[in-house]
Amino acid sequence: MHQVNLEYLAPGVFQKNGVYYPDTLVGTDSHTTMVNGIGVVGWGVGGIEAEAGMLGQPVYLLTPDVVGVNLKGKLREGVTATDLVLTVTEMLRKAKVVGKFVEFFGEGTQSLSVPDRATIANMAPEYGATMGFFPVDEKTIDYFRGTGRSAEQICALEAYFKAQELFGVSMKGDIDYSESLELDLDTVRTSLAGPKRPQDRIELGNMKSKFTELFSQPPASNGFSKKPEDLPKRFKTKDGVDIGSGDVMIAAITSCTNPSNPSVLIAAGLLAKKAVEKGLTVKPHIKTSLAPGSRVVTEYLKAAGLMQYLEKLNFYLSGYGCTTCIGNAGPLAESIDQAIVDNDLVCAAVLSGNRNFEARIHPNLRANFLGSPPLVVAYAIAGTVLKDLEKEPLGQGRDGPVFLKDIWPTTAEVHALLKYSRDPATFSRLYGDFTKDNPLWAAVPTATGQVYNWPKSTYIAEPPFFQDFGMSAGRAHDVKGARVLAILGDSVTTDHISPAGSIKDTSPAGKYLIANGVQKADFNSYGARRGNHEVMMRGTFANVRIKNLMLPPKADGSRVEGGVTLFQPGGEQMPIYDAAMKYIAQATPTVVFAGEEYGSGSSRDWAAKGTALLGVKAVVVRSYERIHRSNLVGMGVLPLQFKGGDSVQSLGLTGEETIDVLGVEKGIRPQMDVTLVIHRKDGSMKEIPVLLRIDTPIEVDYYLHGGILPFVLRELVGKAATTAKATA
Ligand code: SF4
Repeated sequence: MHQVNLEYLAPGVFQKNGVYYPDTLVGTDSHTTMVNGIGVVGWGVGGIEAEAGMLGQPVYLLTPDVVGVNLKGKLREGVTATDLVLTVTEMLRKAKVVGKFVEFFGEGTQSLSVPDRATIANMAPEYGATMGFFPVDEKTIDYFRGTGRSAEQICALEAYFKAQELFGVSMKGDIDYSESLELDLDTVRTSLAGPKRPQDRIELGNMKSKFTELFSQPPASNGFSKKPEDLPKRFKTKDGVDIGSGDVMIAAITSCTNPSNPSVLIAAGLLAKKAVEKGLTVKPHIKTSLAPGSRVVTEYLKAAGLMQYLEKLNFYLSGYGCTTCIGNAGPLAESIDQAIVDNDLVCAAVLSGNRNFEARIHPNLRANFLGSPPLVVAYAIAGTVLKDLEKEPLGQGRDGPVFLKDIWPTTAEVHALLKYSRDPATFSRLYGDFTKDNPLWAAVPTATGQVYNWPKSTYIAEPPFFQDFGMSAGRAHDVKGARVLAILGDSVTTDHISPAGSIKDTSPAGKYLIANGVQKADFNSYGARRGNHEVMMRGTFANVRIKNLMLPPKADGSRVEGGVTLFQPGGEQMPIYDAAMKYIAQATPTVVFAGEEYGSGSSRDWAAKGTALLGVKAVVVRSYERIHRSNLVGMGVLPLQFKGGDSVQSLGLTGEETIDVLGVEKGIRPQMDVTLVIHRKDGSMKEIPVLLRIDTPIEVDYYLHGGILPFVLRELVGKAATTAKATA
């Protein structure tokens, strides 16, 4: 969708009744920010906020800080836009730009093509910013020409931004930013990021040593807690495939970031061509795929004569849109999966995606590395992340060993083929009529009528959000006697809170599906079943890698993984969903504690919806990611933030406490302090102030109405009633 916005949908400037105004966008995906690459101010909002937006509700925000990033110099020969964006992501994460706007300026910015800018803009959620903005300039105008926009559109865009004196990239000193940072493009090196977070960049030459180091490091250091002597051990699957830790099992050119950038796609095709010509191959058990964001990509890869080489290395087109980045690569071969589980192997995925959070790509692939499309092809050939691709050969070719440098395309070779990606006629043809080329899509029967009748389905079910709906808002209540449902660590992503991937048959969601007559083979993913709250609430906090710190550490110091908790008092271990239902049945409210950057990653609204449906009344953390915090408010859950140095650790919380949240009942003001009362098992008590992260007056209204949707519905019903009265 982001690529389609960039290539086709975004006009850059609108005109209504002779008045021109700039194009803006909010989208239900955190990567909506890609459109910032063409100077459109836009960012991702949660589905909850977007639903309200579609019903006419404005988007509110606090005036943000704007961080200016001065890009200097030029990228070196052979360094890709992916290497640049992984460097920017690492740098800006460290600079803590969460909730801020980032704007790029300087000569380096001027030199970047629009696809390179869009690649950087796209990863704003990974660096934590609300958006990463690039202004409109000559490069934007050229891009509009190359993507088949009309002469009238192009003329309006240029004239409008010039008339507003907003045309062109600013230079150092032109704008007084809240904060300024600098990156010399010349310092960017070929890199990957992982194995668990997009901001953990690793230079190519350090991959082997880093993986080796992390293999035996504890999870707190992003490691895998394995014995070093296990790393070289090899095993045979039951059908005779030789596998071991470090082996690449998924190699995917995928996701919205890179496939919208012709330079890295063409580089992947060129690398594949050279590899095939030298006789290199990809082992058949490695799951390879090519999933671009628009049909334009396959057109230009074919026109440039590169598609056939990607296919020779098994990178066949698997579809258009989100695939491996959201776990839609599907299962591995059963024998491989079994061997990984039986021998507790740490195998890898290498993908050109945005996100590598735990269990997002595949539940049993624990190391996931993001890299440019040509590096994805290279690692598919190498078959392991335990080869130093700067020093060791990728593989044996027809005439002996072949090194990565032997087949890495030059910048000139890539540029020579870029013309195939800039054919306005292709864009106009492919975007001319969507339905013509998709008869299957056009033939899907749709429901008609004003009200959906909710036929029985395990995919779509009527959610309980409007049960007992009345016209008046509620009152805020203090939370009293709450039990702790989970204590989580730092960097808990929305994937941890509400996984999108596969559903285990032994999980509460799996059991629900089986009880409703669904075979295991037909489970599909949480993402595909997000229209059914019964599945999604059972999946909340059910990520196979989530660690609830209420459970004591294992003998080797590692933590129990999976969505389990200790039901209090008594401490009986059970799935979080089961415990939540028991607490709801006895009318006991619950709270969740966590550390820094809670709710980073996707803008997944189910992370908040599921939290609310499990009966959680408040979440208390060290810091929030923007969209998840607002989604919690939108679902009527109190987002609270520790103050100063307070944390789960400093307060010695174990999960056996009962918790009160006091001060809400007296009336809510944005960002006021409320009191968290901790009643310990030994009878002692501690009171601390915590910050209420209801940030704006409108959010106070949302909260009092039990969330955005009841608020909007009451507004609509109220207006309709007034209109009816007036016309009666
Ligand atoms: S799931 Fe991945 S590919 Fe899809 S929009 Fe999100 S980041 Fe992009």
